[in-house]
Amino acid sequence: MSLSKKIYDRSPVWFQDLMVSLQGFVYNRRRWDAPLGRSLLAELRESQWWTADQFRDYQAEKFHKHILFAQINVPYYAELFSSKGITPRDIRSVDDIARIPFLNKTLLRARPLDFLRGGRPHRSWNRHFTSGTTGSPMNLYTSRESFTRVWSFVFRLREWCGLSDPIYPRRVQFTGRDIVPNGSAAGDGPIWRRNVAGNALLMSTSHLSRQTVPAYVQAMKNFAPELIDGYPSAIAVVARVAQRLGLELPRPRAIITSAETLPAEDRRLIQSAFGCKVFNQYASSDTGAFICDCEHGNLHINPEFGICEILDSEGRPAKPGEEGEIVTTSFCNTEQVFIRYRIGDAAVPGPPDPCPCGRMMPRVEAVTGRVDDVLYIPERGFVGRFDPIFKGLHGIYEARIIHESLGVLRVELVPDPEYNEKCEAALIESLRRKVGRQIGIVVDKVAEIPRGPNGKFRSVTSMCRNEYPEV
Ligand SMILES: [Zn+2]
Repeated sequence: MSLSKKIYDRSPVWFQDLMVSLQGFVYNRRRWDAPLGRSLLAELRESQWWTADQFRDYQAEKFHKHILFAQINVPYYAELFSSKGITPRDIRSVDDIARIPFLNKTLLRARPLDFLRGGRPHRSWNRHFTSGTTGSPMNLYTSRESFTRVWSFVFRLREWCGLSDPIYPRRVQFTGRDIVPNGSAAGDGPIWRRNVAGNALLMSTSHLSRQTVPAYVQAMKNFAPELIDGYPSAIAVVARVAQRLGLELPRPRAIITSAETLPAEDRRLIQSAFGCKVFNQYASSDTGAFICDCEHGNLHINPEFGICEILDSEGRPAKPGEEGEIVTTSFCNTEQVFIRYRIGDAAVPGPPDPCPCGRMMPRVEAVTGRVDDVLYIPERGFVGRFDPIFKGLHGIYEARIIHESLGVLRVELVPDPEYNEKCEAALIESLRRKVGRQIGIVVDKVAEIPRGPNGKFRSVTSMCRNEYPEV
């Protein structure tokens, strides 16, 4: 645990609020370039009304430049293109993408530096971790410019939501971030923290239970957000319990859900409980693709973000209504370049008919991957979104969590050569922060983790769902 984390955990709540706000302030300064962001948002406001041909031409030109950039600056692609005899001259249309082989996570993990511009990280870049849906942690790099580029798409979505200030709306965010020290629960003090710099109230998703929901609801009502965003599993738990207990919920203008699959049932529940529209957003953490709902509740691929392919098992574009794998090529990040990246998520392409919103952006029926199960941990209540526990951990290729019985969690992991006792202790500590101290945790090292139907990986599985209390 870092020193700042130790200090944070032992501080009073007002001081933690201050630290969260300060971190929000530093975060904004390091990552957000306001003039650039506003001008990008203005461009996106225009381009959303382009015709299908305009989108195609734009993508072809950007893709050509991207290939040229990768060939000159990124060691892996310099080598790949030369061995395959691919030159940027060959890339004239988006369809030419089929000439480039897929990129998978195993290759990325084997040669992480070779995907960076110049072959090494630059001092000014921001480094963050992702565990993705497969539980294998990975370093990700962005510059201030690429981060701003990605966020301009979030801001456009917030405009679709009808927010008055898309950049700093008054916002409640349900977060898996470790903002409330271990052991806190209802009665021990608030389970949310205030980020004044980001105009946000952060709600910990690790402390949700039937007992704590009334406190969450009261805090949200006092804050009166214009926007609520975060993990749908957590927002759905709040909605379900509030309805059951007859609690009055705040009335935001919109709710944006992200990072998990949004089941249709949960969408209906959240919309009726909060009395506003839910906008689902899929944006992979390595900035590969951006797919989001419009005002008519239809998902659209944002083509200015990059090329988002949805492919069947033969590598051909999946048909409307047929599930396929998401393969991404982002134009946004030039520090770490991934072309045709198999991200491990699945989606179903939507019908070719135009959407009533009038935008010609390709439609998606559903993003079906990233199904994170919510587990019931007696000490903590309903806990979802386990991906973050793997963030920053080393020595693990792949891991999954199995809820064997109410009293036992088993972690199956495929160790890499770096794995040792320290890694294991860090993993257990990270998991404990999420699930508390009472449940038994067993770690099993295995050679491989079996896939489920359709070759899908499930990072969280419950064997004792029938013992969960009804919400
Ligand atoms: Zn639409």
